[in-house]
Amino acid sequence: MADSLPQLEKHRADLLAQISQLADFRPGSITSTQGRCGNPNCHCHKPDEPGHGPNLRLTYKVEGKTVTESFATPALQRKAEREVAEFARYRELSRAFVEVNAQICRARPVEDTLSPQEKKRPKPSVRKSRAK
Ligand SMILES: [Zn+2]
Repeated sequence: MADSLPQLEKHRADLLAQISQLADFRPGSITSTQGRCGNPNCHCHKPDEPGHGPNLRLTYKVEGKTVTESFATPALQRKAEREVAEFARYRELSRAFVEVNAQICRARPVEDTLSPQEKKRPKPSVRKSRAK
């Protein structure tokens, strides 16, 4: 059973309030790099060496190009983790916001927007679809 229009509008207002309260966010992902680097003379290429890392870094796209940033301090890493996690929340809220708007559009009754001239024209089946 579908929600009523007032319920849907309440849901939409709730979502909008949550979106407006989001903290700083940014698209991107935090990935871990671990293993041997590209320098064959590096100590990591010696036998029994575990390789570098794990090193975390932030990657994101700017105009289609992937940008990678490493974190100079743990605080910077934590900040980026928060921002990326907040973006995931934004995406989820945004998806729900679009969905509830689409439901509202389906539930909203048709408004009487016809001009008097338009109304004079005979209509094959004029039905009031107010009740829903
Ligand atoms: Zn190395």
